[in-house]
Amino acid sequence: MMYCLKCQDWISQPVTWSTLFLPNEQTQLCDSCQSQLKRIAGTICERCGRQMPNETMCEDCNKWQSNKKYRDTLLFNRSLFQYTPFMQEVITQWKYRGDYQLKDIFSPYIKKEIRNFYPTKSFTIVPIPLTNERLHDRAFNQAIAIAEIIAHHHKNPVIHALSRNVSHSEKQSKKSRQQRITTKNPFFLTKSLETDVLLVDDIYTTGMTIHHAAKLLQEAGCAHIYSFTLVR
Ligand SMILES: [Zn+2]
Ligand SMILES: [Zn+2]
Repeated sequence: MMYCLKCQDWISQPVTWSTLFLPNEQTQLCDSCQSQLKRIAGTICERCGRQMPNETMCEDCNKWQSNKKYRDTLLFNRSLFQYTPFMQEVITQWKYRGDYQLKDIFSPYIKKEIRNFYPTKSFTIVPIPLTNERLHDRAFNQAIAIAEIIAHHHKNPVIHALSRNVSHSEKQSKKSRQQRITTKNPFFLTKSLETDVLLVDDIYTTGMTIHHAAKLLQEAGCAHIYSFTLVR
């Protein structure tokens, strides 16, 4: 018997050959919750993986690409889901309930897609650390859980190479975009790394977090830096 990890409804599982032999392949969501997950599909922004109405670079990427310091720092980001109110709920639930099992919602989706996303087969998987505020709230770091799922299916190591400076955890949302781009990089490296890197986080919003982290790794000598977030 299985319960939906989101709404706790009972999930009836038809026994088929695939559920018999691969019981873990199914996402542990009921049909109703599953239908509310909006997959990114069709035309995307080539750089950040955001779903787009036509083939064009999104506004966020235009800004990053026109910034001399950050241009091409991140080769590209890929994400699986669109940011919907439902997804926001799932992410919040995961973060503050700290329920490690909620990773099973996404594991089958990540497993299915991750190999198709990146040209490099060998990279170090680096999760984005929580802000100090969130650490203080005892929030659970999903980036680590997502990184572990990828590592499991992609056979690459997870290395916690980044940490956050205490003084730079101020709320970014109150600043304008230009202020945010010029905000001091909140990260520092805790390990030396010169491999290709896949940065992992839960959500890509403006791309600031990922670009800050990527810049640091690039300066340290990492040649190709990609990122994966669940949501864009
Ligand atoms: Zn459900
Ligand atoms: Zn973009």
